[in-house]
Amino acid sequence: MNKLGIFINFWENNWNVDHIKYMKKAKDIGFDILEFQAQPLLDMSKEHMEDMKKTAADLNLELTYSLGLNPQYDVSSMDEQVRNAGIEYLKNIVEHVGYMGGKIISGVSYAGWRCCSVDSNGDKKHLLENSLRSMRKIVKTAEDNGVIYAVEAVNRFEGCLINTAKEAVEYVEQIDSDNIGVLLDTYHMNIEENSFWDAIHLASDKLVSFHTGDNNRRCPGRGHIDFDEIFKALADVKYDGRIVSEPFVAKGGEVGEAIAVWRNLESDMSPEYRDQEAAYILDFEKQLIHYYNK
Ligand code: MN
Repeated sequence: MNKLGIFINFWENNWNVDHIKYMKKAKDIGFDILEFQAQPLLDMSKEHMEDMKKTAADLNLELTYSLGLNPQYDVSSMDEQVRNAGIEYLKNIVEHVGYMGGKIISGVSYAGWRCCSVDSNGDKKHLLENSLRSMRKIVKTAEDNGVIYAVEAVNRFEGCLINTAKEAVEYVEQIDSDNIGVLLDTYHMNIEENSFWDAIHLASDKLVSFHTGDNNRRCPGRGHIDFDEIFKALADVKYDGRIVSEPFVAKGGEVGEAIAVWRNLESDMSPEYRDQEAAYILDFEKQLIHYYNK
């Protein structure tokens, strides 16, 4: 059975939140995993990180991490100083995730988030080479800390380097390490892939985590993506890894702006309603997993 998770910013519109409150909430609802942005770890005291580790262990909840890399740390940049700053920054992030006992970090962590500085021919070859060269250094820190670096294919408006499962697989195949893999996200796949079925099959050998969200970034099943096709494909490739739901439904704050949520997407925006929706996600995904793994 896949471990099921949810991203903390379903509830909160700033990246740094009361993690312990949401660990308890996620566990109460029945999730196995709580995911959140890794950057706030850099500003936390050791004591606070220890509190978080202890709470997660007591709850038997896995913490997973993602990242939208600030352009000042763009490891694909043509500017060597920016790249070097990015390599050091990402090594530091990976070390913090390792300190937390974290096993995985995902997101746009191989280039600056929404950095699309291709040349006038639309060529991204040099950016890709820069990113790969940087990643070969960062992945060593991932190996030393027992962390898997998950390369997430994102839609064209959030990055130019890796938009599809094929591009993600080609990228990780050029890094000689067991500590790098691919993350597919249904929201991004809906924009970029020709077929959910084909993309999941193509990436299956490298798939280390999976994000779910509907076309409108509401909870899976609240838009028009065909989740039957997706869960059937995941069962067909015998994917038994993490599935983390990543809905974003509220305008405002750092998160609303970063994700481009310009209106509230739920008829009821109360925290209680979001708790109900989170419980619905678990039920929806468990039913699909059971049905297609019979
Ligand atoms: Mn995602």
